[in-house]
Amino acid sequence: MTVFRFAPSPNGHLHLGHALSALLNHEMARASGGRLILRIEDIDATRCRPEYEAAILEDLAWLGLAWEEPVRRQSEHLDDYRAALARLERRGLVYPGFESRAEIARLVAAREAAGPWPRDPDGAPLYPGAARELAPEVRARRLAAGEPYALRLDMAAALARVGPLAWEETGLQAGRVAAAPEAWGDVVLARKETPTSYHLAVVVDDALQGVSHVVRGEDLFWSTSVHRLLQALLGLPAPVYHHHRLIRDADGRKLAKSTRATALRELRAQGLTPEDVRRMVGL
Ligand code: GLU
Repeated sequence: MTVFRFAPSPNGHLHLGHALSALLNHEMARASGGRLILRIEDIDATRCRPEYEAAILEDLAWLGLAWEEPVRRQSEHLDDYRAALARLERRGLVYPGFESRAEIARLVAAREAAGPWPRDPDGAPLYPGAARELAPEVRARRLAAGEPYALRLDMAAALARVGPLAWEETGLQAGRVAAAPEAWGDVVLARKETPTSYHLAVVVDDALQGVSHVVRGEDLFWSTSVHRLLQALLGLPAPVYHHHRLIRDADGRKLAKSTRATALRELRAQGLTPEDVRRMVGL
């Protein structure tokens, strides 16, 4: 039985891009006689709000989607992510970095003054710090002192534990895609106040929920490299991936949750129908 999921973050209102993703999941699930689950990715407590979640459910129902209950809300399952993180920690694949974001920006600037410094597929500079080399007693002292920290994946150590990784892609660039997790450097897997990052939570949940097909926007295409690596390290199965085109605004930019013009509830208020939305997203 195939299992599809739509996994929005309640940090704003759904727009046409989400409609495309949700409708594709719905149609592919139906076409394969499979299930569709809805997952609320609300681990970022500073940006996610219950009123956005309520609006998401309303917009999806209006679009004509049906999903299984109960809906999994990530904020209610932090122990699952803590357990996965603990497994990686026990294998010596995670280390705390104590630099603030401002310090990291200064370190990057210093590197860039000396020449080009690599950036990840999202365009952010790779972690330039040396926290991996901190002496164990220094680490222990700073943790005990309650300093803020980010837990990072030791990418070199992680890669040494797994062979070459790939995934099955049925969307853009269909075929077997070679994963390149090294392009992300020592990614953050958790922070002092948040026991998981998006990457860790998505991999744990897809496995726990038996997701067989991940259908999402192409902005997450190369995140799949990190997901495949975490799956391999944690012994989790790999779903089939289908990354779809993004809906762009008139200037060719990816839609933002803050733009009212393409928000589903705004379109609905203007009297547009779900059929109009389908047409607008090219379905
Ligand atoms: N929660 C993510 C978002 O709203 C999607 C994650 C995924 O589909 O893997 O962008």
